[in-house]
Amino acid sequence: MPTKHLLKIEDLHHSFGDEEVLKGISLALDKGETKVIVGPSGTGKSTILNNIIRLVPPVSGKIYLEDVEITSTKKINQIRQQIGFVFQDFGLFNHLTAKGNVMIGLTKVKKMDKKEAEKIAIEELDRVGIGNYANSYPSQLSGGQKQRVGIARALAMKPKLILFDEPTSSLDPELTGEVLTVMKNLAQEGMTMLIVTHEMGFARTVADELIFMEGGHIVEQGPPEKLFKNPEHKRTREFLFKLT
Ligand code: ADP
Ligand code: MG
Repeated sequence: MPTKHLLKIEDLHHSFGDEEVLKGISLALDKGETKVIVGPSGTGKSTILNNIIRLVPPVSGKIYLEDVEITSTKKINQIRQQIGFVFQDFGLFNHLTAKGNVMIGLTKVKKMDKKEAEKIAIEELDRVGIGNYANSYPSQLSGGQKQRVGIARALAMKPKLILFDEPTSSLDPELTGEVLTVMKNLAQEGMTMLIVTHEMGFARTVADELIFMEGGHIVEQGPPEKLFKNPEHKRTREFLFKLT
């Protein structure tokens, strides 16, 4: 069924062996929206993101990107060109410079010529505030700088939306701020983003909508202030206030 949403997930189920980890997830994301998913570990948050870009295939349910149903398409590379992904552990190639890491998707997947790819890589590294590190290798960068390379790499592909899976969870606390600032700026620029994080302050101030998940279900979703101040479920309050 066609949809006006940029991304729409309908009744998504996923199992690993006998364990059903997603028990019917439905959510939608419009162009320019930032939604943040929070919830305890092991609740299925990463599995949702991995289902979207088919790192694992959904067991049942439908996912639409604009009006294309991507759950049944065989063209996985086309999906991955349109949906950026930022990983908890950065996922950088250690033998490539920051610039090389940003260029590789452009030259290998988009078949762009090297000069043009280099120009875009430098623009995107500048955009996340690390243009001066274009020629540095990951081993020469701090965790916060590495994650900003990860974000520049996603941006360079000009994706329709970007998924973030706990982008600051491997960072020392003093380095999380610089990454969250980049993400906040992207939200203000109108980038469409679906973010899994435990950073409640960020979720509260940046999310258009907050989604609280537990045990493979969405317990509650809505404006962050509503969930923080007047949640419908006791579990939402307990979870949000345990962490803040
Ligand atoms: P979250 O991101 O909320 O911490 P996950 O989506 O990573 O949760 O995991 C949900 C459940 O699925 C957990 O019980 C986890 O152990 C299990 N799981 C995740 N990935 C795999 C996998 N590749 N094989 C088997 N079980 C997995
Ligand atoms: Mg996870």
